[in-house]
Amino acid sequence: MRIGIDWGGTTIKAAIVDGANLRGFTRVETRVEAGVGAVLDDIASLVRVLGGQPESVGLAIPGEVRDDGRCWRLPNVPGFENVNIAAELQARVGCPIGVENDAIAAALAERLFGLGNTYRSFLLVTLGTGIGGGLVLDGEVRRGRAGFSGEIGHVLIDSSKDAWPCGCGRTGCMEAYAGTAGLLRCYCEVKGSDPVSGTETGSDPLPVTIKQIAETGGVTADAVWKQLGEALGTGLASINNILDLDAVVFTGGVSNSFAQVEPHLRKALKARAFAPPLSEIPLEVSKLGEHAGVIGAAHLPTERTASDSGRLFPTPKLPE
Ligand SMILES: [Zn+2]
Repeated sequence: MRIGIDWGGTTIKAAIVDGANLRGFTRVETRVEAGVGAVLDDIASLVRVLGGQPESVGLAIPGEVRDDGRCWRLPNVPGFENVNIAAELQARVGCPIGVENDAIAAALAERLFGLGNTYRSFLLVTLGTGIGGGLVLDGEVRRGRAGFSGEIGHVLIDSSKDAWPCGCGRTGCMEAYAGTAGLLRCYCEVKGSDPVSGTETGSDPLPVTIKQIAETGGVTADAVWKQLGEALGTGLASINNILDLDAVVFTGGVSNSFAQVEPHLRKALKARAFAPPLSEIPLEVSKLGEHAGVIGAAHLPTERTASDSGRLFPTPKLPE
């Protein structure tokens, strides 16, 4: 049996995975302040809770994995710089381990069991706290030379001096407007409330997730969807001008509100794409839902060879 683990910002989810089917789903809170060893112990306990001796365990992480297996860094979990997570976990659970960036793992799931059966080349966009991406070209998931492929959140969409700050330390990135912090800032500007102190002119607490913003409805939600669509459309136009993809597939917190976002996205794409065929690209919402990361993780390769560099194997045959 294979086990897939998806390490999100706040929870670590795990399940036994057979194809795209999950069994024995379990989860644990991420103990951000507990230190590297404690977090790895928590992940190993999840494997033991699922029972039996797995043939392999795959782990999707909210950060990048270098070609030699070392983690570059985890922005939300201090202390993991340069840690070889696969080697550390292997010592704890005693089976081969695959580790990969979470958006790239989700793209692998989409490639194997989702819209990858319809489109040969697509970008999977993960919408949440940050904006992530996983790139599939000609049926192969690309991880890039150093494992950073698809970091689309930091495409520049505003170079003005008033551009909004991004979590990466720069300003004007797509994520600064389309990530949760940017959407909340938009929400607060429309409502006339203060995103720093969290006080609002009304008595309702501030929403903190895209889902909660959607639930507020009305002109405020409309303004948020407009900002999200425009930011995504502007950034994706530049990306598609380069790649001329078959589709863009969206996943994450906004999936249920995509119908409200799409018109704004399409308009911005049209304004910025070099030629009409590039702006008429199919825009889809993934049907794999919130478990894409777990499914993709379970199918990660547990070792790579030099000839695999930049690609993510195994790559199954495409249907004729
Ligand atoms: Zn950035």
